[in-house]
Order: sequence, then C-alpha cells, then structure tokens
Amino acid sequence: MVEYNDLIFEISRPGRIGSSLPESDVESVDIQNKLPKHLIRDVPAELPEVSELQLVRHYTALSNKNHGIDNGFYPLGSCTMKYNPKINEDVARLEGFSRIHPYQPVETVQGALEVLYELQEELAVITGMDAVTLQPSAGAQGEWTGLMMVKAYHAQKGETRKQVLVPDSAHGTNPASATVAGFETITIPSNENGLVNLEELKKHVGPDTAALMLTNPNTLGLFEKEIVEIAQVVHEAGGLLYYDGANANAILGKTTPGQMGFDIVHLNLHKTFTTPHGGGGPGAGPVGVKEKLIPFLPVPRVEKDGGNYVLNSNHPLSIGRVKGYYGNFGILLRAYTYIRTMGPEGLRQVSESAVLHANYLRKRLEPYFEAPYAQICKHEFVLSGSRQKKLGVRTLDMAKRLLDFGYHPPTIYFPLNVEECLMIEPTETESKETLDAFADVMIQISKEVEENPGIVLEAPHSTVIGRLDEVQAARQPILRYEKAVEVEKETVKS
Ligand SMILES: *Cc1c(COP(=O)(O)O)cnc(C)c1O
Repeated sequence: MVEYNDLIFEISRPGRIGSSLPESDVESVDIQNKLPKHLIRDVPAELPEVSELQLVRHYTALSNKNHGIDNGFYPLGSCTMKYNPKINEDVARLEGFSRIHPYQPVETVQGALEVLYELQEELAVITGMDAVTLQPSAGAQGEWTGLMMVKAYHAQKGETRKQVLVPDSAHGTNPASATVAGFETITIPSNENGLVNLEELKKHVGPDTAALMLTNPNTLGLFEKEIVEIAQVVHEAGGLLYYDGANANAILGKTTPGQMGFDIVHLNLHKTFTTPHGGGGPGAGPVGVKEKLIPFLPVPRVEKDGGNYVLNSNHPLSIGRVKGYYGNFGILLRAYTYIRTMGPEGLRQVSESAVLHANYLRKRLEPYFEAPYAQICKHEFVLSGSRQKKLGVRTLDMAKRLLDFGYHPPTIYFPLNVEECLMIEPTETESKETLDAFADVMIQISKEVEENPGIVLEAPHSTVIGRLDEVQAARQPILRYEKAVEVEKETVKS
C-alpha cells in the first residue's frame, strides 16, 4: 500500500527549525575579506527546514525501505551478504579505537598498531602468503594495488610485460583494474564444464604475460581442479598468479591461494570477514603477497621493532602509498574481531556450512530451473532462467517477483557466460528454515511462470515503487537535496 508519507518528498517549511545553538561567544570573522571571492556564497544555502522529529522520522522511514541482511535473506551471489555479528560493532566503537587520530605519535597508538600488525599476520596465514598490506579500501583497489606490484616486479627484472589474462567468468573489476594499471586484458574462454580451458590458456601465455587473474572457486561456484597445472603454465612463462579472493567463504581453513600456487591475493573484508556492505559504504581489500613481492608492498608498513610497533616507509622499491593513512581502520577492527571470535575451527566451519547450504539449495532448485553446471558446487551456484524465458518470462521478472516475498534477489545476468543467469549464494549464517522458505518461493515462482505469468511479469506488487528506470537511476542519480517543485504537492492533492 502506498502511504501518504511516501508521496510527500518535500517536508520543509520556512522558519521551521530542528536544533538550537547557543549564542556565539567568539568574535565573528570578517569572511568577506579573508576568503577568496569565488568561495563565498551570494545567497544562503537552501537547506531543508524541518523539526527534529520530522528528521528522525524521515531517516527511520528511509532505513525501513532498505533491505538489509538484518531484516531478510540476501542470497546475492559473489557478494557474500552474511550476518555481521554485533560484537564487531561494539569493538569498533571502543573509545581507545574510535577516538584516536592518524597523526598521533606512534608511541601513543601502540594498541591500534598491534591490532593492525596481528591482522596482517592472521590474513597471511589464512591466505598462505608471506606478508600483507591493509591499505586498500576495496576489492577493486586491492586488485589495482596487486597489479601495480606485478608491474614493479617485472620492471625490477628489466621486463615490460603488457598482458593480463582473465577468464571470461571473471568479476568485472578484474579487467577494469588491469586496464587502470596500464595492462592489456586478454580473455580466456571457459570450457564446457565452466572451468579455465587449459589448452586455450597455453595458447595465450607467453613472454608478454604479466599475470593471470583467477578466482577459485570461480564465479560459477566451481573449483578449478587443474589449478596446479594452470599455475605451472603461467610461472614457466615468467608470469605471476593473482588470486581474486573477494569471496573466500569456501576455502577458509580448507586450502589457501598460497598452496594453490598464487603469488598475490586480495580479500574483501566487507564480504568474507563480516563488515556490513552493499550501500557503497567503506570497505577493505587487503593484499597478501609471496616473499618475492614483499619489497613492492605499499608504505608505510606496520612492522614490529623489538617490543614496539612502528610505521616504516623506508622501503625504496615500494609502489608507494595507495590510501590516506593506514587503511579503513574501523573495518579492519571488525575483521580482526571476527577472526579472533571465530578462531581457526570456526573459520573452517564457515566454509563447510557455506558449501553445504549452497549445495542444499542447488539440489532443491535444480528440478525447476535449467542448471548448466549441475555438479557439486562450493559456496555459490548458478541456475539459468532459459526454460522460463521460452514461456515469455525473464530472469529479471522472477527477481522482481522475489521482492513480493521479502527476499533480496540473487545476482542476475552474471557471470556473463550463462544465459539468463541466476547466481545464488546463501552463506553459512542462514538456518535450514530460511533456506527451505526461499526454495519454496522460488519453486512457487517457477510454477507461476507456467500457470499465471502475468503476476511475475508485473511484479513487484508489494513495494512502494514498482520497476525503476535502472539506467537513469545509475546515470543521473539525484544525490543532494533539491527543493521539490510545486507539481508534486498538487499530484498528491488530486
Ligand atoms: C565484490 C568483488 C570484487 C570487487 O570488490 P569491491 O570491494 O566491490 O571493489 C572483485 N571480485 C569479486 C569476485 C567480487 O565478488
């Protein structure tokens, strides 16, 4: 049902006020003469004028419209929307962490540096790498950081290798990061089993290969069984192996990129290590490297000198600083808390449950949807809506129909090598009841497609706004307050 409040976007009234400030008791500065002319406003800023209660209701109403992991199932493949334990928030809020400043002398923030140091060590163990930087603030920035180290590594040997190989199932950030780092991307097609085609790979590997970027398990949720051979082929040609570890949910405590033969890996702490994400908020994409790449890590590095923790910038081969200060500290704290509360056994359990849940859902749904790779999967799996498409209903329509049942849809139309793709990642934190309820709804939708397709084609029926123009919403988002025009109020009245 559409509420009256949902239609009134403009609640500002001239002169209404939500706060009261005490009289200023400092002498006012003559701004006109102190600031450059072009920085001074001619007219006062047009800010919304609302009471405190209206403001509270406005933001509460907005938060209620937002679907998050705390209010419902969110099986977004490749994005690992798992539950984020609240103890992480408690720790990130501790005054000793939240009220320090990056410019403080290092002697006064030894505890914070100890956390960073220990997190580096733990992530090195988890990934099978020799050293880790915590600086990058997203997976994509981690990729770019890793590739800049690849470049520096080859340059140090007097080589200018230009090509980065990326399989066709890769996350879009892989070719994008390679391009931003100045490489040329070569796409390697998958074979009929959804895995890297070793013969194709061999054709493209050569003296110009800087690196191969790979995710294992790949974005189809399948484990690259030939990973050792793949690593050998690339290494023999003098290239490096980059592991996209954004989603490490299937390998924690089971295997490591280091064991598989990778030289560089990034992790998304805001996926695998329970930092809330999805709204474009802060993230963290630490990068681990093998011994031979340590000299190129970003500076300053958090190191231990006797009993003290130090920030060391004295690494002449470093690619430099990639982020202001030392990374997104609050996110790093949450990941540290998560790793310490789970322990090695707990992290192993994460992988086992994530894989079990994915396979349980896969088995329940396979009779109702096309399953291009019907085999044991890791933490996620793909289905195809091609059967439903023949009946005139597309995957997008089924995704919209899921909204009517209070679920966030899975990732759709990715990876690109699966027609009408649905990519489902239930994560380890859901109960069997939730998995069953979701499966029941998916099965119901598949039946609706056959018996009453209109209800799917016109979905969603229960949300405040129906289908958005997603292209326009992405290309021309209205991100700042603009006083609403009179027309809107009239529409409400009529
Ligand atoms: C999410 C994701 C990325 C990118 O991470 P961001 O933090 O969004 O930049 C890269 N690769 C894979 C496989 C991902 O799932």
